[in-house]
Amino acid sequence: MNDSIFVTQPSMPPLDEYVEYLKEIWESKWLTNNGKFHRQLEKELCDYLGVKYVSLFSNGTLALLTALQALRITGEVITTPYSFVATSHALWWNNIKPVFSDIEPATLNLDPEKIEAAITPLTTAILAVHVYGNPCNTDRIKEIADTYGLKVIYDACHTFGVKVKGVPVLNFGDLSVMSFHATKVYNTFEGGAIICHDEAMKKRIDLLKNFGFAGETTVIAPGINAKMNEVQAAFGLLQLKYVDEAIAKRKRIFSYYCQHLKGIKGVTYMDEMPGVEHCYSYFPVFINEGEFGRNRDYVYEELKKINVYTRRYFYPLISQFPAYRGLESAAAGKMPVAEKVTEEVLCLPIYPDLNYSTIDSIIGKLKVFGSGS
Ligand SMILES: *Cc1c(COP(=O)(O)O)cnc(C)c1O
Repeated sequence: MNDSIFVTQPSMPPLDEYVEYLKEIWESKWLTNNGKFHRQLEKELCDYLGVKYVSLFSNGTLALLTALQALRITGEVITTPYSFVATSHALWWNNIKPVFSDIEPATLNLDPEKIEAAITPLTTAILAVHVYGNPCNTDRIKEIADTYGLKVIYDACHTFGVKVKGVPVLNFGDLSVMSFHATKVYNTFEGGAIICHDEAMKKRIDLLKNFGFAGETTVIAPGINAKMNEVQAAFGLLQLKYVDEAIAKRKRIFSYYCQHLKGIKGVTYMDEMPGVEHCYSYFPVFINEGEFGRNRDYVYEELKKINVYTRRYFYPLISQFPAYRGLESAAAGKMPVAEKVTEEVLCLPIYPDLNYSTIDSIIGKLKVFGSGS
């Protein structure tokens, strides 16, 4: 293999089709601020995702920041250490203290049974992540939130079109936040969204992402600039035409990995969950050093030698970054499940145009390393 293979490669629609959209933008000279394509994309995403309201954002991180503002979250928020760092950063930027709680082994999402022990009089919300697009135990989380009067925000940045028993996971919680970054299943170069369930909240989110303007001369909140522009929105409209095909291709790659990794001692993976329609955003494997004979980092380095650049999502844990030191909940030994998984995880390449010959090489390497040679 000559070309470098990365863990993902963005899906791109045909350029000539995109040029048609660009021509319209050039003619209209309407570049941002709730333009035609922006409005159209919000509508089409509502239909595609099966949700009531979509507010588009320039990226997922700003959508997270704004979601916390929209619900007036303060004090402490219970969250997972096993995610991309932006999940907790959004709390810090709002002067909210992240309180980390351990994950459950089966889904690697926040363990509902451990949430209650982390609740204090200052707790106002739970910020959970559907990691790798695998849905959280939303029923249990809702029960706990209702008992304690907490809000629930889902970081759904790995989740595009995922359904549980036919119900879109984006419909759970008070708000869900999406990312349309280049590395995600559906991208608008960069981009993001907040999903909400009533018109008043949609209105509030939309003014917060536009400096807090409630009218031409009225500003009712210290809002931010987090608007998606027309060039991104047009790209998103075009991407939407091809996203089903992209997810179908991911599904085939996912199944192929599962089929061929079966039986390699010390290597486990996450199968599809019963009743769930997945989006196949990542393909994590877990290397158990004792059984495999080598550790995760060894495999990571060896795959680099054949130009395959895997990623250790999520290593280290957010709670292990220097930026989070000093938090009591981040102390070593507090989250045994997350602390173990972060040492074993390795995300293998998965994207629609990935070659099966590359997958065969990766699997072949895993078989060789695993044999103890
Ligand atoms: C990608 C991602 C984000 C951040 O989204 P951006 O669009 O890159 O700002 C937040 N949380 C999770 C879990 C992510 O994967």
